[in-house]
Amino acid sequence: MRINSFSDVSLRLLMVLCSLPEDELPTTRELAESVGTPYNHVSKAVLKLRQMGLVEALRGRSGGVRISSEGKQATVGKVLRILDDHGDVAQCQTDMGDCPMAHSCGLRGVLNHAREAFYVSLDEVTIYSLARTTTTGPVPVTLSTSRPD
Ligand code: SF4
Repeated sequence: MRINSFSDVSLRLLMVLCSLPEDELPTTRELAESVGTPYNHVSKAVLKLRQMGLVEALRGRSGGVRISSEGKQATVGKVLRILDDHGDVAQCQTDMGDCPMAHSCGLRGVLNHAREAFYVSLDEVTIYSLARTTTTGPVPVTLSTSRPD
């Protein structure tokens, strides 16, 4: 299994925010530096996390981004179920056409079932708990063009 880049960056942001003291509110630009990701990608991820209720943005001179109480309880499984790709695990349908076995393939369903098991295994893991065991710092990442609305 492999998670998409948007999910990865979002999880990084949540881990960084979970690791900060309550009175430390980084700006989106500071967050972008801390996760080693371009500002515009981080800005989109922060917007999505706000829409999900996992982070809050405070305006003003001392404003910035902070984890919400809901964000402190969010699990990796919950976040991935919303942000990760939901197409087939294998390349069953592509721009080049469908796999010729797509209508009678037993593997397709088994692989998609395995992905659900992957999420289930992460349903008990809170991002907050991970932030206590993770050393945060710049991490290079390249985002794919696919991301959720
Ligand atoms: S063989 Fe099955 S799982 Fe693999 S690409 Fe074709 S339809 Fe999908």
